[in-house]
Amino acid sequence: MDTLSDAIAAIQAADRIAITTHIRPDGDAIGSTLGLRRILSAAGKAAAIVAMDTVPARYAFLMREDIIIPADATAPDTYDLLIVLDTGAVDRAPSAMQDWIPHVRTLNIDHHPTNTRFGHINHVNPVASSVGEMICELARTVDFPIGSDAAEALWVALITDTGRFAYSNTRPATLQAAAALLEVGVRTDRIDDLIYNSATVTQLRLQGRAIAHLELHENGRFALVSLAREDFTELGCTGEDADEIVNIPRRVSGTDVAVFLYELIGDNPRETKASFRTNEPFDAANLCRQLGGGGHARAAGCTLTMPLAQAREHILALIHNAWFAAS
Ligand code: 5GP
Ligand code: MN
Repeated sequence: MDTLSDAIAAIQAADRIAITTHIRPDGDAIGSTLGLRRILSAAGKAAAIVAMDTVPARYAFLMREDIIIPADATAPDTYDLLIVLDTGAVDRAPSAMQDWIPHVRTLNIDHHPTNTRFGHINHVNPVASSVGEMICELARTVDFPIGSDAAEALWVALITDTGRFAYSNTRPATLQAAAALLEVGVRTDRIDDLIYNSATVTQLRLQGRAIAHLELHENGRFALVSLAREDFTELGCTGEDADEIVNIPRRVSGTDVAVFLYELIGDNPRETKASFRTNEPFDAANLCRQLGGGGHARAAGCTLTMPLAQAREHILALIHNAWFAAS
């Protein structure tokens, strides 16, 4: 089992480092990638972000001098280490980066309990709230300074993966990492406004549709919201606009399982993305693993290669079975 010290040894031995993260990056993916790049650059390493997907508008304020190098504009032999962040399975990495792994030493830094250890070195800590927290710990351990731009990015990683320090993954080490970032002078109020009080009218209208489509099952303990491709196209929305919608079924009093399903916009055949949020005893990662996905016990996801209506039936049956097993 690889540990923090293996990760540190790999980083210390490398001078030219490529960093990447999972497709459709979230706040932890983007924040930990930017934070680590800034820390490594300040420590004198040549560190580049490679093949990160488009940064959603709500996180665009984090981008500074950061250049995202497309995979086809560079090559694995340019680097002596590839760091893959917040990615629990190889199929969650950008497809071009999956092809790099046999050609460059790969360090996977992640916190998903479902991690498949696809790197050559795997630093996986399933009790860490976020990869942002793991990067803070790494920087502290090797004495790499965290500058204000790195601190801001890591703060975003922490708040987005912990629901602003509310979820059960928030632990003392999370708040110790957060305290270290505050010491650097992170503007928490400004970041909160930029991320959480910056919805567009169409995003709110999409939330309106989601509320209108809310359904309850299993005696009101399973709440489901689905959005079809047409819901997005009629409002001129993309998948990015659906970011917070899983919190709608989750807000219903008395629910233990909340699921948000939405059809991905793009080429046929239709695919449906599922986000699961659960209370004990329901394990979101176990449920999603049965559908080819993964994640954490309380928050997990998967993509089903079927249209929304079929995915909905599939998931209703899966949850019904889970209820049967739990009762
Ligand atoms: P979300 O529902 O917000 O997309 O994701 C919740 C959690 O599940 C995140 O930690 C995310 O990394 C993980 N997750 C989401 N979709 C997938 C997927 O398709 N495969 C795997 N392995 N994990 C996923
Ligand atoms: Mn994460």
